[in-house]
Amino acid sequence: MRVTFLGGIRTVTGSATLLEKGSLKWLVDCGMFQGSKEHEERNWNLQAYQAKDLSFILLTHAHIDHSGLIPKLVKDGFGGKVICTKATLDLCEVMLQDSGHIQEMEAEWQNRKGKRAGKDEATPLYTVEDATKSLGHFQTVSYDEIFQLSDDVKVRFQDAGHILGSAIIEIWVEDAGGERKIVFSGDLGNSDQPLVRDPSIVEQGDFLWLESTYGNRLHKSREETIQELLKIVQEAIAHRAKVVIPAFAVERTQDIIYTLGQFIRKRSIPPIPIYIDSPLAISTTEIFKRNSDCFDQETKDLLSGGENPLDIPGIRYTQTTEESRAINEDQRSGVIISASGMCDSGRIQHHLKHHLWREESHIIFIGYQAEGSIGRRIIDGAKTVKLFGEEIAVKAHIHTLGGFSAHADQKGLLDWVSHIHNPDLHVFVNHGEEKVSLELGQLVSEQFHFKTTVPQWKEKRVLFGDEQEAIPEERPEEAIPPEELFSVLFNNLDRAYKRLRRKLKREKKKGESFYDPRHLKELEQVSKKLEELESEL
Ligand SMILES: [Zn+2]
Ligand SMILES: [Zn+2]
Repeated sequence: MRVTFLGGIRTVTGSATLLEKGSLKWLVDCGMFQGSKEHEERNWNLQAYQAKDLSFILLTHAHIDHSGLIPKLVKDGFGGKVICTKATLDLCEVMLQDSGHIQEMEAEWQNRKGKRAGKDEATPLYTVEDATKSLGHFQTVSYDEIFQLSDDVKVRFQDAGHILGSAIIEIWVEDAGGERKIVFSGDLGNSDQPLVRDPSIVEQGDFLWLESTYGNRLHKSREETIQELLKIVQEAIAHRAKVVIPAFAVERTQDIIYTLGQFIRKRSIPPIPIYIDSPLAISTTEIFKRNSDCFDQETKDLLSGGENPLDIPGIRYTQTTEESRAINEDQRSGVIISASGMCDSGRIQHHLKHHLWREESHIIFIGYQAEGSIGRRIIDGAKTVKLFGEEIAVKAHIHTLGGFSAHADQKGLLDWVSHIHNPDLHVFVNHGEEKVSLELGQLVSEQFHFKTTVPQWKEKRVLFGDEQEAIPEERPEEAIPPEELFSVLFNNLDRAYKRLRRKLKREKKKGESFYDPRHLKELEQVSKKLEELESEL
């Protein structure tokens, strides 16, 4: 039994693992890399396998960082089946087509630029048509149902409580040495989220792929988070200001709608306008309504009492760009929920442009902000950000509410792992930024004494069986070749240096236009520190 770690390795995007048992080859997840240019280039070079050799893709959930390359694989000759839950298929239908649309737009934009520079024509990674075609390969399974991939490999999907239809995948492999079980946590949900259920408990396993998005962080409790949100909205109402919430269409948009609905139902706030400004969020909210069997008990009770938790007074869904623009002409206070969640694209950028510089506005981050994203820069305290070629000052109140995250925090992850009773469990930590995965890995090995590995991108391993000869060498445990470590360090250093250069350039401009003694002091310190560093090197 062999595996290759293809994505979601020392990063949060591009989740994919190749599994091979004899001649049977399949993937668990087939996600798109997002964020840095260097990562995005990986989407084009899937050399680790031939798409046509794969029999299955087991899909944990619909998020693009897990499903986004399926249309590309189908385009490259994948003829097998994509196995997932029904809600995941429903969500993939809108999300993959939307992703195809984004790819087409991106290529078109490249071409407009490229033509002027005399470059070759760019082709999209895949098109809307490719995405639609790929949907024909999907086959759905129910939670808890055993599905046979071959005579000696069977799988089961269990609720991961992350988003609608999300799954933990268990794989049993029959081998000469007996049966072994491989578990993929997928993205694990935060417990006590409304709408979706809590993550299922897994008690057995020989190998575990464990996500680590928030492996070094603790969320505030749900109750505290709700109170914080209420306070922010009330304050905005008092100042006739707006609250802007960047959110992925299928991340916490529905959770926020539900929570604001509760505020209005309980009369904690008046029925202010709530704008859902993302066509994708509109379709996905419809999908939520269609898949109510996936809801938790609390939501089911609301529904059977005749209340739809996603229909609240004052809610406005905006489809067209004109409607979207009109939102900012409305002078009353209100809440705007818009995509993308990391502020790198989409309509949210218009709303940020309108509100970031206004002191009375509130911006609330509820989802994960990857390194390099605009959202991350705002959270990290950037004084200005560039939107549509214009520097916009960040003066609004900036909040992060981790309690609305769709991901378990460090405690949630460790609690979930604690249920597995097998002293010989081998844990592979994935789906997290490098230092976070390493930190969680260390905690897991200290607390539970499980063998723990944070794999390298493209690393191959023989998990068990008699296929040792097939791979000439296995990387020694945790021993990163020094030259690789150096190149990682150099790359990080190089990026940090470039960021510093850009910052200094901006500071220089500022310095030319006004004089601020405190600022001058800070700059002197930076300059001194740099000199020290240089002499040490
Ligand atoms: Zn996810
Ligand atoms: Zn993910």
